[in-house]
Amino acid sequence: MTKASSVVLHKLKKELEILEAKKGRGTELVTLYIPHDKQLSDVTSQMREEYSQASNIKSARTRKNVQSALEVIMQRLKLIKSVPENGLVLLVGTIPSGIKDKIEVYMMEPPEQIMTYTYHCDSTFYLDPIRDMLEEKGTYGLLVVDRGDATVGLLKGKRIDIVKRINSTVPRKHGRGGQSQRRFERLIEIAAHEYFKRIGEHASEIFRNTPDLRGVLVGGPGPTKEFFVDEGYLHHEVMKKLIDVVDTSYTDDFGIRELVDNAKETFKDLEVTKEKDLVQRFMGEVVKDHGLAAYGEKEVRKYLQIGAVDTVLISEEVESFRTAISCANCDYAGNKTVRSLKAYEEAISSEACPKCFESSLGIDKFKSTLDEFQELAEATGAKVEVISIETEEGQQLIAFGGIAAILRFRP
Ligand code: ZN
Repeated sequence: MTKASSVVLHKLKKELEILEAKKGRGTELVTLYIPHDKQLSDVTSQMREEYSQASNIKSARTRKNVQSALEVIMQRLKLIKSVPENGLVLLVGTIPSGIKDKIEVYMMEPPEQIMTYTYHCDSTFYLDPIRDMLEEKGTYGLLVVDRGDATVGLLKGKRIDIVKRINSTVPRKHGRGGQSQRRFERLIEIAAHEYFKRIGEHASEIFRNTPDLRGVLVGGPGPTKEFFVDEGYLHHEVMKKLIDVVDTSYTDDFGIRELVDNAKETFKDLEVTKEKDLVQRFMGEVVKDHGLAAYGEKEVRKYLQIGAVDTVLISEEVESFRTAISCANCDYAGNKTVRSLKAYEEAISSEACPKCFESSLGIDKFKSTLDEFQELAEATGAKVEVISIETEEGQQLIAFGGIAAILRFRP
């Protein structure tokens, strides 16, 4: 499972805000989550079933609207050849708008896999699974260990998989004296070493075979976990991904759960840390003479176009559109960035053409600045990161116009 980029998540968040506001007059908005392996013919037959069930709905308006939504869904399903890798979300329903109600259709492939097939009919769209995807934080390796036993698990989004339970073969210490006591303790240490080695090997193998592992957490009661980590029982590649070693009371499945609960803050910090690091890197370049930094929409666009950008930092606050405009009276054509597309559509009719001075300008094309920058970045292999406004660094970015770039080189 790949962690969706900050750009994808940002767009999804925006889309979610729009969809959350949609309300039907009654229980008449249909939501459908189709997993990749679901047979479309099964979905269609269920829709047919729901359609005939809907004839029992008392309110004539609701009945009509539910049935229209189901019809649209069945039509759409016919056009789909196969369900995309991550599944398909279909949201269809009649939304009141002004005097006329309008049927609205949203179809999307989510950034992460849909696990369960869901049919839902309500006065709002059912968006919880998408909301959960936004909270998705990738895959983490989990290990709880003490001298008694150990458990290895994986955290995938919100789901915890227990992968391996390992029991100790270390004999218990009990009081004997003299020579045999020392020999016995020596045996215990050998057994403990073998046991830790076994845990290390299992855990390392599991974690190293997990694609897109974002980090590893180790927990357990007492000092054994630190000993285990410090003595190098984990593979060095796994050690590079070690995020934290924390206390838990247990070393079984419950201990794994404790580990995740304790790490919640750590995960949040990680997201924020990445953003902070990026902005700080930029700031570090800005203060240098001829540093590898650029800021402001125009400048960043210029550097993107010549392939000089490594990473674009764009604040989630930036909501603007890049428009292509032209004059109907002469051959003038240009581009303009505007904050509100709606306001600009109204304003442009009275704006004078810079060439012939007639009020005959019009918008031919537009796209959001984020989309524009992403396309430019893709063309030259640059990265784009959306930066939240929650941190001090996020605020600093706004002071630089909300758009900045770390450069590969300074042309
Ligand atoms: Zn003109």
